[in-house]
Amino acid sequence: MANSGQKVVLITGCSSGIGLRIAVTLAEDEKKRYHVIATMRDLKKKDKLLEAAGDAYGKTLMLLPLDVCSDDSVKQCINNVKDRHIDILINNAGVGLLGPVESISIEEMKRVFETNFFGVVRMIKEVMPDMKKRRSGHIVVMSSVMGLQGVVFNDVYTASKFAMEGFCESMAVQLMKFNIRLSMIEPGPVHTEFETKMMEDVAKMEYPGVDADTVRYFKDVYLPSSIDIFEAMGQTPDDIAKCTKKVIE
Ligand code: NDP
Repeated sequence: MANSGQKVVLITGCSSGIGLRIAVTLAEDEKKRYHVIATMRDLKKKDKLLEAAGDAYGKTLMLLPLDVCSDDSVKQCINNVKDRHIDILINNAGVGLLGPVESISIEEMKRVFETNFFGVVRMIKEVMPDMKKRRSGHIVVMSSVMGLQGVVFNDVYTASKFAMEGFCESMAVQLMKFNIRLSMIEPGPVHTEFETKMMEDVAKMEYPGVDADTVRYFKDVYLPSSIDIFEAMGQTPDDIAKCTKKVIE
């Protein structure tokens, strides 16, 4: 349980990457300012987080299951937090999707929106009433540079982050009146499993009905150059975790 004076921070998508590092960075805060509720949709994946958290687990970090695509899971998770009081919500969970739109089914596109857009909306709707009542709170959203600028072959991912940015910019105005802050973080490339998962999906991708020029451009030009950009410019999950800590301080 949080000590008085400690801020309760709930983070989504802590099984890997940026979410995992944010959870550990805040749990290890030298002044012990945060009581971290690290969540993940599949608790079987908890070992990596617990290993990184070390002694902080059970003290400044606890673990709860949460699938941002499920109304029930979101409600159950928030109900499990004492008095439903969350001071800081960090919406980090997200999925990527890469490739020519002709190769991507509407079902796959919906999965991206269900996670990256409706996942954030669900979380905000659930924590907002208590934050409004207490007239305090901070909601942080992990967007992307692709929430600001369209990028070829990232059409659906970009659209999901644009949608989320639009929602949050509009919400921020309403929330301000209740002293609730809303911040967006927009990282460029970050070395996480995100890139690996997308490349695995791309390896299985089929191109029926896609014109030969588009397939060639995607496979021979876009993919190698995007890998080069990742290698050259990629930040670490720790960089983003430190930035997130600054944002909430
Ligand atoms: P990872 O793939 O390492 O982490 C994504 C996390 O989201 C995982 O913990 C994953 O869980 C979780 N997740 C996916 N779907 C759900 C769901 N339905 N409910 C709960 N959790 C879910 O990638 P990153 O750490 O890189 O990504 C974190 C965020 O950063 C994302 O929002 C992404 O869009 C954003 N971002 C990433 C960039 C990058 O280059 N890596 C650049 C800019 C922004 P599981 O293990 O169960 O799949």
